[in-house]
This record gives sequence, structure tokens and C-alpha cells, in this order.
Amino acid sequence: MLDHGCGLREDQLLEILQLPDEAVPAALQLAHEVRLRHCGADVEVEGIISIKTGGCPEDCHFCSQSGLFGSPVRGVWLDIPELVKAAKETAATGAAEFCIVAAVRGPDIKLMNQIKFAIDRINEEVDINIACSLGMLTQGQVDQLAGWGVHRYNHNLETARSFFPEVVTTHSYEERLETCHMVKAAGMELCCGALIGMGESLEQRAELAAQLAALEPHEVPLNFLNPRPGTPLQDQGIMDGKDALRAIAAFRLAMPGPCCATPAAAN
Ligand code: SF4
Repeated sequence: MLDHGCGLREDQLLEILQLPDEAVPAALQLAHEVRLRHCGADVEVEGIISIKTGGCPEDCHFCSQSGLFGSPVRGVWLDIPELVKAAKETAATGAAEFCIVAAVRGPDIKLMNQIKFAIDRINEEVDINIACSLGMLTQGQVDQLAGWGVHRYNHNLETARSFFPEVVTTHSYEERLETCHMVKAAGMELCCGALIGMGESLEQRAELAAQLAALEPHEVPLNFLNPRPGTPLQDQGIMDGKDALRAIAAFRLAMPGPCCATPAAAN
């Protein structure tokens, strides 16, 4: 792996996720060396701001922004001057990317118009790459965002295909995949991540890592469930720290770097 940068197969990833506690530091050390060799030592800083928070019609069981649950998050919109101010503050930290996110199933015309307006204002005043995370897209919306110069689009797979229906019923895993494929085909960078610790098995964690690797995303945010009050997963509990470290090692070894060979995957 160090020499050639080939990602591990799904069965090998499962072995990493099952390592005994005393082997975890060695797995993390290997993951670190793989990162340095194939990605380099640089760290990219990215700022994220929500243009529309809460009130989402989807039922992702982990999400306090769903309007279908009793979580205390309420719908809030941010105005454009506040967005531009946030972009300036983000750039001042040395960040390379400013991501505008919205809690929606997918953008409607009103949101697309606001995004276009926001992108134009930010580009006039701030030197920073702009990313978006606006849910599932149509081909027309993908083309619009790419045409407006959006550098990166975030759309997470969240969990393995086999576990997805347990945590989301209002849209499918295939719909998420479709947006991811369209984003890549349009030339935008794909940021596509995971949420670990929702009750999936270790086999499903390995399945997810392999499915993400097959997508060849540019960036993979690895998130761990913080169970939010009022959501269906509120009683899930926080995952064991060692299991989180095993997952970090396994996902890195599934995706050693931007130019890695894709392992045989499950999707
Ligand atoms: S689509 Fe996004 S914002 Fe809406 S409930 Fe699911 S994760 Fe939350």
C-alpha cells in the first residue's frame, strides 16, 4: 500500500475494523504513513455556513434539522450580506474553501437564485473557492452550479447501501449516488462522506468504506454520530473511541490518496 497506493478490499477493511485493541496504534501509524506518502502533509481548512437551517422535509434519523422530528432546531434563513461577511472571515483564517449548505431535500428555484446571487457577491469581494451542499440535484441544477464556478459539491452517502433504509425512508441510496455521479461528471470536485455509529454492523462499515472508495471522491468527511435530542437515534449512544480509531484507519486504508487504484467494491 505504501509503495503503490492501492486501497484495501472490503474483506481486508473488515479485518482492520476487527483488530484487537493492542493492534490499533499500528493500524493508525500505517494510515498516517499512507496519508503522508500519497496525499502529502498539507491540511486544507474549509469553512461551512448554513444558508438555510432546519425544517427539512426528509427523515434522516440522525438529523436534528429534519422538520419531521421533535428536535428543537427551527427553520432559519441567512441573508446574503451575512454570507459575504462569513466568507471574508473564513478567507481571513487562511481557509481555501467556503461551503454554503442548506437543509433541504434538494434546491428549489428560490434557493438556486439565492445561491447564484450569493456566489456573485462573494466572488466580487472575496478570493476563495466556493463549495455547496444543497441536497439532491437534477442534471439541470448540476449544470447550473458547475457553470457558476462552484468548485466542490458535498453530498454524503452517510451509510452503507444495506443499512440506508434503516435510517432514511424519504429518499434512496441510489438517489444519493446519482447526484454524486452527476457532480463528478460535470467537473466539480465531489466531497462525499460518512456518518459512523448509527447502529450499523462492522460488515456494513466495511461495505460503506468500499462503496465510498468506488466513487473516488475528492474529499471524504468522516463523521461520528452525536445523538441529538428528539431524533429517532437519540438513544443510540456514542460509539466507543477505539472503534472510531479503527474506522479512521480503515477508511484511510480504503482510500489511500487521490490517485489510488480503486479496490474491488461492493456496489
Ligand atoms: S436531507 Fe440533510 S438536512 Fe434533511 S434531514 Fe437529511 S441530513 Fe438532515
